[in-house]
Parts: sequence; C-alpha cells; structure tokens
Amino acid sequence: MAAANAPHRTASELDATDPLAGFRDRFAFPDPGVVYFDGNSLGRMPVSTPSRVEAVLGAEWASQLIRGWDHWLTFPQLVGDRLAPLLGAAPGEVVIADSTTVNLYKLAAAALDARPGRGVVVTDRANFPSDRYVLEGLAHARGLTIRWLDPDPVDGPQPADVAYALDEDVALVLLSHVNYRSAAIADLPTITRLAHEAGALTLWDLSHSGGSVPVGLDGHAVDLAVGCTYKYLNGGPGAPAYLYVRRDLQARLRQPIQGWFGQRDQFAMGQGYDPEPDVRRFLVGTPGIIGLTAADEGIAISAEAGIDAIRAKGVALTEYAIALHDAWLAPLGCELGSPRDPARRGAHVAIRHPRARALTASLIARNVIPDFRAPDSIRVGLSPLTTSFADVHRGLGVLRELLASGTTPQHRALAT
Ligand SMILES: *Cc1c(COP(=O)(O)O)cnc(C)c1O
Repeated sequence: MAAANAPHRTASELDATDPLAGFRDRFAFPDPGVVYFDGNSLGRMPVSTPSRVEAVLGAEWASQLIRGWDHWLTFPQLVGDRLAPLLGAAPGEVVIADSTTVNLYKLAAAALDARPGRGVVVTDRANFPSDRYVLEGLAHARGLTIRWLDPDPVDGPQPADVAYALDEDVALVLLSHVNYRSAAIADLPTITRLAHEAGALTLWDLSHSGGSVPVGLDGHAVDLAVGCTYKYLNGGPGAPAYLYVRRDLQARLRQPIQGWFGQRDQFAMGQGYDPEPDVRRFLVGTPGIIGLTAADEGIAISAEAGIDAIRAKGVALTEYAIALHDAWLAPLGCELGSPRDPARRGAHVAIRHPRARALTASLIARNVIPDFRAPDSIRVGLSPLTTSFADVHRGLGVLRELLASGTTPQHRALAT
C-alpha cells in the first residue's frame, strides 16, 4: 500500500481530504501534545458539553426545581430516539438507562424468562468480563449451563462456532458485536439468524460498535442489545448506557428489576407491578439527568456526522495504522492482533508484542495514550470523529522509536 512508507505529508494529505476533519473542532483538545488512542475507552469531551450541563444545573435544576421532571421524565426515551438511527433502530426501541452491565443483566434475565425449559446460554471466552460474569451469575442462580465458545483470539466467534453450539436447549446467545480486544466484527446477521432457527434469543453487546460501526439492529431482526455511551459516543465518564428491545418483543419480555419507572401510570403509585407495554418497562429508577445531558450532547454530534461517514473514516484510519504497522513495527517484532479485512474490523487495532505492557507505559510517558490489554496487546483506538491521520503517524512513530531503541532499563522497571 502506498501509505506503507508514509512520510508525514501523506497523513497531511489524508487529513486534508477527510470529510469529517471539521468535527475535531467540536471536541476539547486542551493539550495538543497528547496523541489520544483511547477514544474507545473514554471518548473526548465535546466543547459544547459544559454549557449544556451548566444550563441543566442553572436554568433547570436551580430554577425549575421539581417542575423540571415535567420534561426530564421522558428524557431517557428522547435521547434513545436520537441514538436509534446510529444503531439501525426505530424510535421507541432504545432507551438510555443504568450501566451496560446492569442492562446486560436485565435483558439477559428477561430473555431467559421468555425461554422456559431451555437450560443453556452461549457466549465466548474472549467476551468482555461483565458479559461473562453476568451470565455466570444468572447461570448459577438458575442452574443453567454456559456453553463457552473458544474462538480464535483475533477473529472472534464465527457463525460455524455458534451453529455447532446451538440446539433446542439454548435459550440465549450473548456476544459482542465488535470484540473489545481485537476489534473483530462478529457476523451479526448470520449468527442472529442461526440463533433464531434454533429458537434462541440474541443479546448483542454494542459497546465498541455504537457510534463507530453500523449495526442494522432492525434490519437483521436482532432481539436485544446494550452498549456504552462513554466510548465512541463521547457521553462522559460513566455516562448512562443504552438498551434496545425490538418493538414486537417489548410487551412480551419482562425484566427482573421491577422499579417504578417501568410501571404503567407511574404516579398513580398503585399496588402491584404492572409494567408499561413499551420500551419504558426496561427502565428501573430515577435517571441521572446531568449525566444523561452529557450523553445527549455526545450522541447528537455522532448523529449529525452520520454512521456511514463515521464508519468510512474508521476504516481509513485503521487501514493507515495497519500500513504503518507493517512498514515500521512488524520488522521490530510486532504482530497485528486485529483482522486484516476491514469489513471484519471495528475502529481500533491491536498491536501485539511480548513487552506490550511496558511499551504501553512508555508510550503514555511520552504523551501517546493507548490501552494495554492482556496478555500482549497495545490497543490503539482510532475514534473517527476525534482522531487525525497525523495522530496515527505521530503515535505509531513514537512506538517505532521505542522499539528501535531496544529494551531500556525503563522498560524493565515498568514491566515489573
Ligand atoms: C466498556 C464495555 C462495557 C462496560 O460496561 P459498564 O457497565 O459500563 O462498565 C461492557 N461491555 C463491553 C463489551 C465493553 O466494551
């Protein structure tokens, strides 16, 4: 690829023709010396977020007091509707609430209740910890068996792996759409279809695809999904998560945390839980309006950019990073830990090296901020709205220098 020996100029050219380049101005860059490769763990702050939040504090909380609930009550659905097009969902199918982990529990439990008599759940050993732990807890409480897939660490679970694990005992298949370590994109359409043919429900974790990769939830008849708003959606640290329930399933599924925000005619405060017939039944308690406001601001910017443009830039950034990896880093002992086919790769790349942990620490000490992911990956997140091609060039150039200079005492000290 032409970019393989790319001098800085090539990155400048790519930036100059990037249709999303202007979106960087919508985000705070207080320290231009920092190369940020972790927008998939905590996205950058929109410059408009402080004034949005301040307006909620001053103009709403301080002035309106409890009267604010007249419009705050519907805010979880309103923001969910704003997010829906990014996920390929319709209005009324997405709400913002709780954390991703809590939503995983709510929706997995609802799915299991909807498949009585089936004693098996399917997930993979490379799935994100919360996904595995929540399923382990449910399996323990209900006497279920987890059928673990053990996929290739780079390519993730394939349809054939899932097909092999499916039979009439499987109630639920819970997988991540984009793997948090390798960025592998699972074949969601095929896996969802296979699960349905076996009579199972699907629950997809979209934490690394929401705001980076099109999902097509409705188009592929996905049943249930959850995800974070603080990664590619720039909602802020610990911003509330989202959940999706396909429209025709909503009235048929019941989630286990029966709170008053799911109750029909909530302020009648009646006896006996009688949940709303729609997506509101998946709400639990009072939403955090300040966090929700910050989430709304981040989601609005992604919605404005559009998921197809975001995806195109994510592909271009990861292709460029891989070209630099092949030219600069592979000769120095690195190995790509992400799929080479861009159609099967999300918006980050994993660069594997035996000293990945120490190298990550050295990079951070030099103002290049990736993530280390055990056992051996430097995870380079290339959040499309906030990462430039020049960032990729600069950051991977620092990694090349570190590798070329060999094992320094600093490396050894940090590795212990
Ligand atoms: C980041 C992430 C989560 C985080 O869950 P929280 O409840 O917000 O801590 C869950 N699942 C996946 C796949 C993630 O990448």
